[in-house]
Amino acid sequence: MKKRAFFGGTFDPVHNGHIAIARTLLEQFGLDEFTFIPAFHAPHKTRLKPTSAYDRYAMLCLATDDDERIKVSQLEFETPGEPYSVQTLPKLVAMYPDDRIFFVMGADSWMDIRTWREWETVLSLTDHIVMTRPSREIATDNVTKEIRSRVIDLTGSSGKQFVDIGNAVKHIYITDRVNIDISATDIRHRARNGDGSWKNDVPPGVAKFIEKYQIYK
Ligand code: ATP
Repeated sequence: MKKRAFFGGTFDPVHNGHIAIARTLLEQFGLDEFTFIPAFHAPHKTRLKPTSAYDRYAMLCLATDDDERIKVSQLEFETPGEPYSVQTLPKLVAMYPDDRIFFVMGADSWMDIRTWREWETVLSLTDHIVMTRPSREIATDNVTKEIRSRVIDLTGSSGKQFVDIGNAVKHIYITDRVNIDISATDIRHRARNGDGSWKNDVPPGVAKFIEKYQIYK
């Protein structure tokens, strides 16, 4: 049995916060593999054209090429009409029936969870890992009592360890091991208008790609 984490998002662009999450969770949860799943469609951003899935995919590949354990999936490109987690997660479960699957999201996604299609089903299909995010609220009173009973809080200075308590019931692990205040929206704005400091917030290959192809101009 392998332990695999999957991290869905727009990744427009992938940034050092996303990469720190991958590296940290590989260690904290003893994962064998961590896979980014870029969405095919990027929501239209005001005044900017949506970044193509191929550009976002290329940036993810550049950002992860130095680590064998971190991969990028084209799963959501194969069925662009099925962008919802309730459709993606069963595919992952079917692809890896003998493995343990963790689905990863940031605090802001967690706080929006009730807007996700069939969100209660989503939270019962696999284990989940929620990463806290600087200056974003995190709470568990947004979900039902039953789901709250499956939350395992690993946050706090005591450095609580992940203890594998099996896969019979799906859990939602909350962790604060990554504390990096970077957002993709901010990088896009700074790449368009700023002084170049945004380049420190993405892996070097991603910064070169954004400049070479003028992704956010
Ligand atoms: P935005 O600027 O819209 O916030 P983003 O930086 O969140 O963009 P996305 O591709 O939308 O980038 O994020 C994918 C997932 O990564 C989401 O679940 C988001 O909550 C999480 N995430 C992104 N950045 C961080 C961060 N710095 N810390 C924790 N989670 C993050």
